This record gives sequence, structure tokens and C-alpha cells, in this order.
Amino acid sequence: MMAAYSAAANGCSVTLLEKNEKLGKKLYITGKGRCNLTNMAEPQDFFENICSNGRFFRTAYRNLDNTETFRLFENMGLPLKEERGKRVFPRSDKSSDVIRVLERQLHKYHVEILLHTQVRQIRKEENAFVLELLQEGRPKQLEAQAVVIATGGLSYPSTGSTGDGYRFAESFGHSLTPRYPSLVSLQLKENVKELQGLSLRNVTLRIWNEQKCIYEGFGEMLFTDKGISGPLVLSASTQCVPLLEHGIRLQAEIDLKPALELSQLRARLQRECTGNANKQSKTVLHSLMPASLVREFLRQTGVSEKKTVGALSAEETDRLLYGLKHLRFTVTAAGSYAEAVITKGGVSIRQVTPGTMESKRVPGLYFAGEVLDLDARTGGFNLQIAWSTGYTAGCAAANRIKGEQACTSISQ
Ligand SMILES: Cc1cc2nc3c(=O)[nH]c(=O)nc-3n(C[C@H](O)[C@H](O)[C@H](O)COP(=O)(O)OP(=O)(O)OC[C@H]3O[C@@H](n4cnc5c(N)ncnc54)[C@H](O)[C@@H]3O)c2cc1C
Repeated sequence: MMAAYSAAANGCSVTLLEKNEKLGKKLYITGKGRCNLTNMAEPQDFFENICSNGRFFRTAYRNLDNTETFRLFENMGLPLKEERGKRVFPRSDKSSDVIRVLERQLHKYHVEILLHTQVRQIRKEENAFVLELLQEGRPKQLEAQAVVIATGGLSYPSTGSTGDGYRFAESFGHSLTPRYPSLVSLQLKENVKELQGLSLRNVTLRIWNEQKCIYEGFGEMLFTDKGISGPLVLSASTQCVPLLEHGIRLQAEIDLKPALELSQLRARLQRECTGNANKQSKTVLHSLMPASLVREFLRQTGVSEKKTVGALSAEETDRLLYGLKHLRFTVTAAGSYAEAVITKGGVSIRQVTPGTMESKRVPGLYFAGEVLDLDARTGGFNLQIAWSTGYTAGCAAANRIKGEQACTSISQ
């Protein structure tokens, strides 16, 4: 939609092909229906959240950065607001409003929108691209001077992202990097069913591959019926999934008290124990962690829940202290594409020009959005990738057709 809009606003005649019955099916479910459409982080922080090929993305981002995106949507008639973590949402809290204003722009610039229209194949003939379509079940052909492939990744295939763009790219000789479901929950070896629904706030999560820490983050996570999820886990999954796919098991370590040094924690535990010598350890631990976690905690530390605090040996106390900083689980697998927020990997950026998103192999062919080997953490960064690359590809395609060089900024 952004690519079609920017090409049309730059004076091109544009046709948008969408196989679904409506536009923006995935956009509709973003941000739990509220659409976290960008993030106002300063450039350095912003790029720390781009997980793959941030350097490649910089040029497209310069063409349309978070501030410009904010302004563009507000000028389109969508009031926005900034929330915790600099995440930006429509003031209405409705993702449907994002789709609505984009559709309005598409109509304003006379973009022809063909719904129920699946692109099956794209080839290049002497002077034009030929697209083989299936429109409401009937085969059809379309010719174009330039094509932007913005077919998304593989996650949530029910929204239409079924990886068709990878096939089109390969047919033009483009290589793909391995693709994985990312921003996804992790499954544990341990049975954590009784922890299901438990949310841990202000904890540090570390992921270990043997002796190497591959992820560390502070924030919120939660237990599911088979494992762990929540913001920290989704972020961690980016590093975990490629290893898990190779059969490598990882260790998830939770520091329940990251703000306290071991000596401070020892003093805190002693305070909790003073005057409670006859209380069971499980009762005293309730003041240090959510009640539903106590049983698993004691299982891991090997301390009997019935043991009274006064009867704890020095070694058992040490084990409790260690457990508070190092609660461990074995990660065996990640969730599937059906629940992954994004696809990691995709069309290799090596054969794409960063300033235009044009194929280095096939002039006139462009890529935008998640189909590319670009991905980011949660917080509005993935949609910013889609906006910036879509905007860049649309401008560049229009300029190629008009024989111009620079990407024109669009005034509303
Ligand atoms: C549950 C969920 C929540 C999310 N929340 C956020 C969020 O709040 N903030 C954020 O930044 N990111 C979020 N994301 C990620 C974000 O939605 C994607 O990164 C973004 O939508 C990618 O945009 P895209 O245009 O590249 O692909 P898509 O949005 O997947 O769009 C691709 C379109 O191409 C169409 N298509 C595919 N193949 C064909 C074909 N052969 N012919 C015709 N049409 C075709 C599809 O039907 C689809 O409409 C979320 C993702 C999910 C799954």
C-alpha cells in the first residue's frame, strides 16, 4: 500500500494486486488491533532494534524515517499518539483507521486496486514485465513497466503472507537467506503447565548456548502451557530460533531479582527469615516471588517445601539465593509460523540496491517489506521497515518510469 501510494503520488499509473478480499489483513491484527505503526526512538536506539541488515536499511530509512512517517500519517488524517517505549499508535486505538487512511490515499491518486487477485508468476519480456494472475479463479495477464514485490513473509499465513514473493524472487535469479519464524514463543522441556498465565515483571532473561550468553534483556515475560512468551521472550527468539532449528538446546535463565546483588539478596532473605524460624520455606518465599512459582522454584533448588526456615542449612540457603538469580529452564523448540509475528530471513539484500530497493539483477524489479531479509524487534520497528522500504521502492519505480533520479518527497 505504501509503495503503491508513493509511486502514484509521484505521477505513475499504479495497479495494486491483492489476493485477499480486502487490503491490509495483517495490518488489521497488528498491535493487538491497535497497530503500533512506528517507534520514535532516536536513530542510535532505533537501529539497535533492527536485528538483521540495519546498515542496508539506513538509506531507505533516511527517505522516510519515524518522524516523517508520523507526519505523513497525521497529514493523511490519522491523529497519532506516543506511548511507553516511544511506540506510536493511532489516537483512535484502531488499526482499521491506518488501513482506511491508506486506502483513501490510494483512491486519491487513482491507484487501481484489484482484490481477489493472486499473482501466480512474473516474467520479464523485452519491454515489460508480464504478470500471470488468477482473478476470482479466472486466469488473466497484466503488463507493467516496473514491479514492486511486497508480498510479506510466511508468518500468520491466514492473512495472505504465504511466501509467494520468495518464489518470484528466485525465478529472477535472486538468492534467499534461510527463513525462520521469529518474534515467537519458546517451548520448554520442563512441564510448566501449572505456571501457565504467570507473568513476571522486572526480571532479567538470559539465554545460554552452553557457556555463551546469546541474549540478555530486562522486562516482562510470561509462562504459557508449554513454555514462555511475552516481550522479553519474543525479543530473545530472534537469536534462539536459528539455533533451535539446528537441534541445539538452549538454557533460559531468569534473574527474579536483577536489582539486588547477591549480598543484598542474602540480607533480604535473612530479614524474611528472622522471627519466622518455624514457618515453612514455601511460606517465606511467597514474599519474594509470585506464589504460583514457589513450587517450581523449590523443585529446582532441591529444598523441601515443608522444611522450616530455621532448619535450612547454610548450603540450602545458598541454593535458594542462587535460584533467585538463576532460575533455569531448557528451551527445546520455538513456536511455528502460525503464531510468529515475523519471518526472519528472506530475499538477500546483496542483490538489492539500498537507496532504491531495485533488484541488481533485473532493472525495474523492486522489493519492499518483510519479503526482504530485514527484521526487527517488537515496538513498531517492523512496520517502519515496511513503510520506509515501500516508500523508497514506490518512489524509485516511479522515477525510473519517468526517467528521473531523485526520490521526490510527497506533499499532502
Ligand atoms: C499478530 C501480529 C502483530 C504484529 N504487530 C505489529 C506491530 O504492532 N508493529 C509492527 O511494527 N509490526 C507488527 N507486526 C509485523 C508487521 O505486521 C509486518 O512486518 C508487516 O505487516 C509486513 O508488511 P508487508 O507489507 O511486507 O507484508 P504483509 O503485511 O504480510 O502484506 C503482504 C500482502 O501481500 C499479499 N500477497 C501475498 N502474496 C500475494 C500474491 N501472490 N498475489 C497477491 N497478493 C499477495 C498478502 O495477501 C498481503 O496482504 C505484527 C505481525 C503479526 C503477525
